[in-house]
Amino acid sequence: RLYNEVIELKGNIRVFCRCRPLKQDEIENGSTSVIDFTSSQDNELQIISSDCSRKQFKFDHIFRPEDNQEAVFLQTMPIVTSVLDGYNVCIFAYGQTGTGKTYTMEGTPENRGVNYRTLEELFKICNDRSSIMRYKLFVSMLEVYNEKIRDLLVDNYNQPAKKLEIKQSPEGTQEVPGLVEAHVSSTDEVWELLKSGSRVRSVGSTNANVLSSRSHCLLRVTFMGENLINGQRTRSHLWLVDLAGSERVGRIEVEGERLKESQFINKSLSALGDVISALASKTSHIPYRHLSPSLILSVCPCVYVLFHFSSLIIDFFWINRNSKLTHMLQSSLGGDCKTLMFVQISPSAADLGETLCSLNFASRVR
Ligand code: ADP
Ligand code: MG
Repeated sequence: RLYNEVIELKGNIRVFCRCRPLKQDEIENGSTSVIDFTSSQDNELQIISSDCSRKQFKFDHIFRPEDNQEAVFLQTMPIVTSVLDGYNVCIFAYGQTGTGKTYTMEGTPENRGVNYRTLEELFKICNDRSSIMRYKLFVSMLEVYNEKIRDLLVDNYNQPAKKLEIKQSPEGTQEVPGLVEAHVSSTDEVWELLKSGSRVRSVGSTNANVLSSRSHCLLRVTFMGENLINGQRTRSHLWLVDLAGSERVGRIEVEGERLKESQFINKSLSALGDVISALASKTSHIPYRHLSPSLILSVCPCVYVLFHFSSLIIDFFWINRNSKLTHMLQSSLGGDCKTLMFVQISPSAADLGETLCSLNFASRVR
């Protein structure tokens, strides 16, 4: 397929920036946009600070407040559909709470997002190719909260929660034994599943929005295809990830449960940033999951130090960055996997600080 060749030429990591419109209450409060899109390029923007200084950012594509869900999906489609050609793909929505991560990924019933549109498109292509290909699609949905994995397709809130762990398969890929994989064959089924997953996600929290901003929500689409002509089989994963809010919470106001939550979020988001930027710069050592010092010392130290000196130092440096998120996605990041990050931003002056943090984070991974 032509578009996959285009992606190959440009490398496997994309960063799209999406700016939401000003909200009604922001307009009523007299808030104005601090983002200048006037450049004729659709991949550059400038942030105007209160002292009128400007900072320019460049990404693979920038979506303006007026760009709708369809425009976003049109740019995303070539990447998500490459799962049908056997590629593993990860799509992330990153940004401060309230900037439109869930809007981009899930969307609303009237304005459906990337998740639903992706499955709709996959079904369409599979049907078009049905004379040469037999396929099956499975959907899993899970949440990572405080480094614990919860299956969102099991309504387990009233039962003792089943503990899900990441295991390495003999083929070296990461699996989550026991995770529900629902076979889907129509868009209606998909919509029902996505709705029930979101419902399970919000159960158990007094404020659904608060909880969802502190957990990562992952939708995994497993594609199994068999080419009817040459018998070749493929199995690939597409991950669609709505990340926890990236905002820094003030040290003083935070204690107890919230402090723990924000530490877990910070660790997992910075580990994700490290992994993607290491991939972007093609570093040979990718810090997915970091070895413990005792493990390093127990494996024949002399040989280890001699042959893996640099790797050891890096592992040591990253010891405290262990993260379920990057560990689980390990076999879908890197190699010839495709990665897309949406960095979601707010146009409001009140969010300027967080907007700059998000844009700097995204520039680092590009
Ligand atoms: P997040 O998941 O990052 O916390 P949400 O997706 O919940 O943010 O978005 C916050 C609010 O802004 C929601 O009411 C959502 O519908 C609205 N919103 C976000 N992005 C857009 C957009 N591009 N166009 C219209 N409304 C948007
Ligand atoms: Mg959200």
